[in-house]
Amino acid sequence: MDKIEHIGIAVKNIENSNALFAKLFGEPHYKMEDVESEGVKTSFFKVGNNKIELLEATNTDSPIAKFIAKKGEGIHHIAFDVKDIEAEILRLKSEGFVVLNEVPKQGADNKLVAFLHPKSANGVLIELCQEIDDKL
Ligand code: ZN
Repeated sequence: MDKIEHIGIAVKNIENSNALFAKLFGEPHYKMEDVESEGVKTSFFKVGNNKIELLEATNTDSPIAKFIAKKGEGIHHIAFDVKDIEAEILRLKSEGFVVLNEVPKQGADNKLVAFLHPKSANGVLIELCQEIDDKL
């Protein structure tokens, strides 16, 4: 597993949060993207070498809607860069982690992603991501 790729923050209203985080970082977000398969609207900020992803639910079945209903707004997941997501999934399964996506799926920001169940990682939702271009 490589560096932290980004930290995901669940928000109720992404427009309001874009304005808030732009004030915090002194710079606006650099892109927004809908991930329909997840029922989320995302926006990305660069902070030095780091990235922050804001996530707003686009429907009530979205994992973000459920998260906010249960826990309120806040840090939702930590994403790590991996070079070979299939190999990492197999490795982590063999270590006893519960992998939510045995077949990686298309995530935001041109990535293949897979999540580990927070129950198997001390309550932290872990996202693995691999740049799609790495695969070609
Ligand atoms: Zn993410």
